[in-house]
Amino acid sequence: MSLFETLRPLKSEIARVQVFPPKDGEFGDFQFNNPEINALLGELGFRPYRHQVEALERLYSGRNIVVTTPTASGKSEIFRLAIFDSYLSDPRATYLLIYPTRALINNQLEKFSLQNLVFYRLTGKLVSARMLTGDIPWEERRTLIREKPRVIFTTPDMLHYNILRRWRDYEWLLRNLRYLVVDELHVYRGVFGSNFAYLFRRLDFRLKHLGAKPQIMALSATLRNPRGFAEKLFRRRFSAISHATNPFPRRYLILFEPKNLDERQLLRAVVERLAEKKIKTLVFFDSRKGTEKLLRFLLGSKVFSKVTTYKGTLPRNVRWEIERDFKEGKLLVLLTTNALELGIDIGDLDAVINYGIPPDGLFSLIQRFGRAGRKTEREALNAVVLRKNGLDYYYREHFDELVERLGRGIIEYMPVNLENERIAEKHLHYLLTELGIVDWDELDEFERKVMEKLVIERKADLKKNPLTGKLEVRLRKPAFSYSSLRTASDETFFLVKDEPWIKGKLMEKSSLRELLNFVNWLKLKGYIIEEVDSDEYHRSLLPGMAYFSRGELYMARDRLALGKFHFVFAKPLNRFWDVETFVAKREEVEILESRGEKTYRGVEVHLGRLRVRHVYTGFAVKGADTGNYVKEILKLKESGILRAEIYSPMTGERVNEEDFSILNWEKFAKVELKEPYVREFETEGIWLVFPDSIREVASEEFREFFNVAIEKGFEDPAFILYSNLDRRKLFPLYLGTTTHVIRKTIGDTLQRLGISDEELAFAIKKMVDSKDGIGSALHAIEHNMIKIAPIFTYVDSRELGGYSYASFPSLPHAGRPVVFIYDGNEGGSGLAPILYENAERLMEKSLEHLRSCPCKDGCPVCVLSPKCGTFNEFLDKWAAIRVWEKVLERFPSKSKDD
Ligand SMILES: [Zn+2]
Ligand SMILES: [Zn+2]
Repeated sequence: MSLFETLRPLKSEIARVQVFPPKDGEFGDFQFNNPEINALLGELGFRPYRHQVEALERLYSGRNIVVTTPTASGKSEIFRLAIFDSYLSDPRATYLLIYPTRALINNQLEKFSLQNLVFYRLTGKLVSARMLTGDIPWEERRTLIREKPRVIFTTPDMLHYNILRRWRDYEWLLRNLRYLVVDELHVYRGVFGSNFAYLFRRLDFRLKHLGAKPQIMALSATLRNPRGFAEKLFRRRFSAISHATNPFPRRYLILFEPKNLDERQLLRAVVERLAEKKIKTLVFFDSRKGTEKLLRFLLGSKVFSKVTTYKGTLPRNVRWEIERDFKEGKLLVLLTTNALELGIDIGDLDAVINYGIPPDGLFSLIQRFGRAGRKTEREALNAVVLRKNGLDYYYREHFDELVERLGRGIIEYMPVNLENERIAEKHLHYLLTELGIVDWDELDEFERKVMEKLVIERKADLKKNPLTGKLEVRLRKPAFSYSSLRTASDETFFLVKDEPWIKGKLMEKSSLRELLNFVNWLKLKGYIIEEVDSDEYHRSLLPGMAYFSRGELYMARDRLALGKFHFVFAKPLNRFWDVETFVAKREEVEILESRGEKTYRGVEVHLGRLRVRHVYTGFAVKGADTGNYVKEILKLKESGILRAEIYSPMTGERVNEEDFSILNWEKFAKVELKEPYVREFETEGIWLVFPDSIREVASEEFREFFNVAIEKGFEDPAFILYSNLDRRKLFPLYLGTTTHVIRKTIGDTLQRLGISDEELAFAIKKMVDSKDGIGSALHAIEHNMIKIAPIFTYVDSRELGGYSYASFPSLPHAGRPVVFIYDGNEGGSGLAPILYENAERLMEKSLEHLRSCPCKDGCPVCVLSPKCGTFNEFLDKWAAIRVWEKVLERFPSKSKDD
């Protein structure tokens, strides 16, 4: 039975299907230096593909190579063979292989060992190879250092924390390094990429000091400009191989669109069909919350025991168990986040389902889909379950574009910011800690600026060497603890089960080493539930907020901060409760520096550095079990942990009878923190400065809709309602239900007057909207641009933040309407320049997208966003379209830059 047949019962829910035909491979020949390797090739039973031959030829001509061909195109074969060949020529040479995750290493080492055995049978020699990862115990590491294996499989984290820091232990490895292999290069983008670039810089300095000159082999998913990316990251010349010649299996691309079922029911049906047929499947979600929600929805299903969630925040041992169970077939479906995007081998896999188009557009989708169907004789299934969301809608409408891009599988942009000062400063301090002295001449201009900062902070000295007369930076205060490569900041938040003794033990720990040992023990014993960053903490784990993990419901309680480690204690609640919490925040953006400026039609576009302040003021509680949940929140308040006002019928506080009539308070509560939590950071972004003439849109909106009321002969009730309803006044009480309250008030009033006219009700609502002024139009524009940004930029919209001002409060744009879209990563991770480059296309597409959305007044496809700090209030799609029309269609195309 073909994979497609399996899903036939869901035919009514299938919107589009595309079949990618299987493709034959093209082959070539290569002569290795040692004839044994050609014999090895024969023994392993394969002929090299043409692109593998090409890669080897360039490598053997002495160049660094970057190979960017799809998953399963035999990229790793290239370096394995090259290593065996080089080993025969020079048994003292060493090889360092870097993988972004430990799971990948397990898999790659296994493959290497299998070929090593064949190599041994042919040559009588075995290439010693070992893995060096964070979880290898100290004794084993000492054995490894004594034995000096030729091949080391490691992670960038280990290179960072261990190899470079204790370089003397690894001198044998670094001094004799022949090849440096960096797999999954495309992972090193954004913050991780910036960190990696500096990590490599440190490695480079060390290698230079030791006189080693290895060649680099970088392997990656398909990029538009692989050579440029590799050269930027490594600061070396590269030769790129990107034309794949391997065969492919037949592949189905299916778009599911919920029609008779809702999204969740459809997903459940797909999962059940595939699990019943024992088809191993990965289902990808944008968020950890999404995986947990579906798992909860499957609680009563007969395939429940075959399904679980897999997230990067789960402790490592738990993840290993899941990987093993999936490989062995005990589990058939994993509901996962991008944690399983990379080539972690979890056995053969036939189907990859994505819940919606990922927020970075096709970047992740290409990787994820590549995971299914690695065997040519089988079939592969790639499917997307469409949601009501901007990108999903875009690709449903532009299916050909989706097919074409997935067919080509090319990633357009790789953001990486080498000038993130915070990241650079950390690494240059580590560099000094490792080297002691660095020559001023060896640093570039930006690095010198950062070094000067270290001098001011008294971590380093800038001195002239009396012998050489050259300037050099000398270490003054070493870096004692190194921070994570995965974030810009160095804070970690652990979600811990709330057991009083844990808190006591944590506070007893007197040294960092002791604390880390205890944390590892807590992880092993399952007391640590998840590990998140500062952003996620503020969004999801403030005291009293609900958090889901592996099907369990927790309530976040107090937090214990020990240096840069934070422990957030969580209490398990009834996992069947239907409840969710949504954080409320205010925002402020300050312009620090403008680095670029252009004008498009009526809009000034800027690129530069910003300071962003998020003020988290509380959260809303929603769901059928809000009542039960509020009881728990009240207990938390009584205990003194939560300092807040709680607005709900449960508390009887500040809620009058009238409010009950409008809202179903049983399903809604509001928690207002006495002292808000503040998160402030510097980053990069773009901002659009609009002409003041767009302000007319608000009065145009009023006139247009008041005219509707006049034509219908109901101008009096319309005007009275307009005068009495004010979103700004209602919002503090009703938060995300304000619009609902406004609509209901209009509806009820008209009903009392015996008028039943939806068009009139809508017109009055728009009159009320016009009171909010131009800010609501800009807010809608901001949301929409963030939504569609991934179409060109492949930038994950979740990494973008935005804020809009009807009147910017300070210079240089005082009083002007401004929309900011910024990189949500502290210090900036390279997203802003990509947005700036594509700003014109983004603006044009935004107008097209807003206009083509069939909704009347804004929906999740065009303007509503789950991340909105003001709960999607003050959003006016109608006015947004008018603003774009004014600046994009009525302004002359000629600008001052032309
Ligand atoms: Zn819409
Ligand atoms: Zn918003």
